[in-house]
Amino acid sequence: MSIREHLKNRRRVVIKVGSSSLVHEETGGLNLPKIEILAREIADLKNQGKDVALVSSGAISVGKASMGLKSLHTLKEKQACAAVGQVLLMMVYQKFFSEYGQKTAQILLTKETMLDEVSRENARNTFEQLFSMGVVPIVNENDTVETYDIRFGDNDRLSAIVTALINADLLILLSDIRGLYTDDPRNNPEASFISEVDVLDEHFKSMAKGTTGSDFGTGGMSTKLAAAEIASAAGAEMIIADASDFRIIHKLIGGEDLGTIFHAHPHEFQLMDYLKRM
Ligand code: GLU
Repeated sequence: MSIREHLKNRRRVVIKVGSSSLVHEETGGLNLPKIEILAREIADLKNQGKDVALVSSGAISVGKASMGLKSLHTLKEKQACAAVGQVLLMMVYQKFFSEYGQKTAQILLTKETMLDEVSRENARNTFEQLFSMGVVPIVNENDTVETYDIRFGDNDRLSAIVTALINADLLILLSDIRGLYTDDPRNNPEASFISEVDVLDEHFKSMAKGTTGSDFGTGGMSTKLAAAEIASAAGAEMIIADASDFRIIHKLIGGEDLGTIFHAHPHEFQLMDYLKRM
């Protein structure tokens, strides 16, 4: 049986969606039909009895679009836009999820929260309580209170840290990057696609070098591979897949050969040590 055929049995799933996959490229405004499909897909995973947490970017770009700003220059501006955008984002999620009878909650995390043993434990307990109440936690970094030198910085790694925190067994990263290639496909037409990575060694890591993300989010391929290392060590498989159509979620869970899957190789993994080194 291939690794993908087991995915339907995963009990706890974290899904991460990048900013560029939630907004219209031209305006930065929310792509409502896409978000509706995302809510429907996740609500259906819940109906199958799985626990699901959604890690959603988009606060800054949605806030920026809503304030009619073309570009953001200062940290203060970004943080203000995140504050505006986060509520808009949650309002839309709540509307679509409630149409499918699904309750949602907002969890905003900071690196400091995760470094402190007591607050980390509190966060873990809150997730557990929400799952036991059937709620979908929607997670983002608390951008409005973070400073540059102490922040996660990208939601790829944040979603892997959440995966480790809540002992999820599958992490799905959805973005404008379809998966891992032998080289950057935008520059090298010869680059070939890799659908499965067992051991994430230097050979694979070197393939990701220089691949940058979109104009909206912060993560490129290297933050995705960093996420794969955390998820794998914490005992979860991870898939990088194309977010252009969120119906890919049920296809992935159904075992279809889409995106790049990274195997889990659980070993003694100290979240604390990793965070301190970050
Ligand atoms: N937390 C940021 C936001 O919601 C996004 C970070 C990322 O794209 O990785 O706007």
